[in-house]
Amino acid sequence: MSTEKAGEKSDDCLFCKIVAGEVPAEVVGQSDSAVAFKDIDPKAPVHVLVVPRRHHADVGALAGASPEVLADVVGLADQVASDLADGQYRLICNVGPKAGQTVFHAHAHVLAGTQLAGF
Ligand code: C5P
Repeated sequence: MSTEKAGEKSDDCLFCKIVAGEVPAEVVGQSDSAVAFKDIDPKAPVHVLVVPRRHHADVGALAGASPEVLADVVGLADQVASDLADGQYRLICNVGPKAGQTVFHAHAHVLAGTQLAGF
């Protein structure tokens, strides 16, 4: 069982390690409360992950604990989409394994740089 607490760095969390600089990532944007880096397995010409600096298991937990940080995550996503593409993007947040979440540190996928298929 994990002993991590919301908002605290988790020693076994990959994205906490990226935020701390302990695991390399191609950082493309930062704010006081969030970091944006390129996804290692891109699904679009621009595929960036935006994560809060502090640990929360998913965006639902983040929204409950720190709505202002969630707003900052969205703001940084918008900035990155303008910096790396034309400002048009899809924002995806997977919550839970059934939705495809594999890393349990809140994050938003920014997909941009092409015409995305509808769904
Ligand atoms: O929403 P989900 O949890 O599936 O997203 C996790 C994402 O983290 C994946 O798109 C995966 O490619 C990415 N990842 C990464 N760097 C790692 C490990 C995973 O960008 N070292």
